Amino acid sequence: MLRQYELVDRVLGYDPRADEALINRAYVYAMKKHGSQMRASGDPYFSHPIEVAGILTDLKLDTATIVTAILHDTIEDTGATVGELADLFGFEIANLVDGVTKLTRLELTSERSKQAENFRKFLLAMSNDIRVLLVKLADRLHNMRTLHFIKSSEKRQRIAQETMDIYAPLAGRMGIQEIREELEDLSFKELNPEARETLVNRLNEFNSESGDTVESIAEELRLKLVASGIKCEVDGRQKRPYSVWRKMERRAISLEQLSDIFGFRVIVEEVDDCYRAIGVLHMNWPMVPGRFKDYISTPKNNGYRSIHTTMIGPKRKRVEIQVRTRKMHEVAELGIAAHWLYKEGASLAERSEEFAGTFSWLRQLIEMLEHGGSPEEFLEHTKLQMFSDQVFCFTPKGTLITLPRGATPIDFAYAVHTEVGDSCVGAKINGRHMPLRTVLTNGDEVEIIRSQAQRPSPAWEAFVATGKARSAIRRSIRSAKEAEFGRLGRQILKGVFEAAGREATDVVLQRALHALHQDDLEELLASVGDGTIPAQQVLETVFPELPVKKGRKKSIKAVAGDDHGGVVRITGAGQGLAIRMAANSFPLPGERIVGIITPGQGVVIYPIDAPALEEFDGETTRWLDVAWDVDPDHPQLFPARLNVTVRNEVGALGHIASLVADYGSNITNLTMTQRDTDFFDMQIDLEVRDFKHLTRIMSALNGVSVVAQVIRPRR
Ligand code: MN
Repeated sequence: MLRQYELVDRVLGYDPRADEALINRAYVYAMKKHGSQMRASGDPYFSHPIEVAGILTDLKLDTATIVTAILHDTIEDTGATVGELADLFGFEIANLVDGVTKLTRLELTSERSKQAENFRKFLLAMSNDIRVLLVKLADRLHNMRTLHFIKSSEKRQRIAQETMDIYAPLAGRMGIQEIREELEDLSFKELNPEARETLVNRLNEFNSESGDTVESIAEELRLKLVASGIKCEVDGRQKRPYSVWRKMERRAISLEQLSDIFGFRVIVEEVDDCYRAIGVLHMNWPMVPGRFKDYISTPKNNGYRSIHTTMIGPKRKRVEIQVRTRKMHEVAELGIAAHWLYKEGASLAERSEEFAGTFSWLRQLIEMLEHGGSPEEFLEHTKLQMFSDQVFCFTPKGTLITLPRGATPIDFAYAVHTEVGDSCVGAKINGRHMPLRTVLTNGDEVEIIRSQAQRPSPAWEAFVATGKARSAIRRSIRSAKEAEFGRLGRQILKGVFEAAGREATDVVLQRALHALHQDDLEELLASVGDGTIPAQQVLETVFPELPVKKGRKKSIKAVAGDDHGGVVRITGAGQGLAIRMAANSFPLPGERIVGIITPGQGVVIYPIDAPALEEFDGETTRWLDVAWDVDPDHPQLFPARLNVTVRNEVGALGHIASLVADYGSNITNLTMTQRDTDFFDMQIDLEVRDFKHLTRIMSALNGVSVVAQVIRPRR
């Protein structure tokens, strides 16, 4: 365990102005408070907060953070109060300890949705003061280092999994790579001990075969650089088992194939030394294509800067090399914490602002949290975002937009602003019109084309890569759907009430809310529209005196007539989210149709003679009167299908295609279903205006000599 003076010396070592007395007081206070409490390891409990404080001195954090670490379990475990801590150590520290305590209380459950929900709160808490999270990370690291003392293997597994899922990626996102790697490796040890042990043994064999390779390679690299006049330090290390394992898993290769298990760092004085050093290295050893990355000109989201390369280095070994300045090195090692070093005297607000700028992912997460969405969805996105690599794109004005790999112009639009995403209709990439599903690559300049009439399409969800875009699309579709279901619900109610000689006014409908457990009229209308509550039930609730209706409704006849009162109008093929056409049944204007209400999904439209309708014979409340209401002045195209048997003659197909075109129709798909020497059968999908249009095309086809038969398939 760290002793009092050792801890103080460490802090004074990087911060000579640290409040020594305050640290001493906290040390004594925590020791007294924790008293004779013990850890699972058998150590006095008090050793834990001190080790946590020790971890934070490695990150060179300020006195308030160190003191918070010393006190971090006093509220939770010793009954100290926020007020007491404020009296003794001031409000800043009391608030920080309070924050850590809240996070600790959030950890107490393992259920997936709870975990996700906790994680949301966690990030929100973190956004107030990043130091709370740094203490929590150090706390988790020490608990992971002592995890093997915990008896219950179930508990160990849970803690390790949580660390792998949440804390390690977070440490990575905050730029604290050392802590990320250690957390990963400690979790790996618990979650997959056999794999880790095999790997460690292989790595050890590998090392003993090659002797002192790491040191000798580092020295050879250094000599070459120094000979070219570059002042530098070079150090080498073997990668941690988990890093090696992940690489093997990701690229599905064996340890033998994975030759770059050594990493080297070249630390130089100035930025231009980095580029000179890379030049010297590449002149002496061949680089491996595709592995060169310049994070100095385009830094990572978490502020990381370095040049990465892989070469076939000394002794023909494949080596990974990172080149950076001392200052970049500090940021790489300390991450978010490094920003405390260079901003002495800056206020908390100034620092927070800097974090918000450097750590824009944090701001994006918080924006997502504020907009809601389900916790699982959120956790999924966050995890995905944490693991993915990035691409850098630019707006036409040159603003850098960082996106995860696989992102499309839709992601780009939402990254600029939610409004831009919602109204996006097209994109120019590097000046050329490109499909919205195009995957962006580094350096793309993206111009988003907007229209106020646009709204997000459900199809977008299939090709977005950012959580922000996905939740914005879902949110927008959800509200559009609710609005459509609401309109549909009102039409359905109107029809059912009118058939019973009643009127579905708002005042009348309000009377059903309570009995049907609906909060307001909007909810009731949407529930009727999406089929959750049958309209008949609303009618019976409001007018219980009416006789109960039985049997299939006869009013379908009325649909064919001119009286469309109370009948839901079908205005086109693309009805949107609340009304859709039954699959493979191709109803056309001019044909009699009927709607079937499907709970949760709205209405499905069938031709009246569709065999599929038999299935709904007994369920009278699901049948809905519908009628075409297509504007003849603005004809639309509807899909239709024909089965055609054709004589096997030269030019038969061309003949049919041109005939269909002559009648103003498009063939959208053509499949040969059967073929023999004399005849072949085809399935033709085409677009027509209505039933008459299709009939005319059918008789024209029948009049052609090569056509033996034309029928509409049974649907
Ligand atoms: Mn603790």
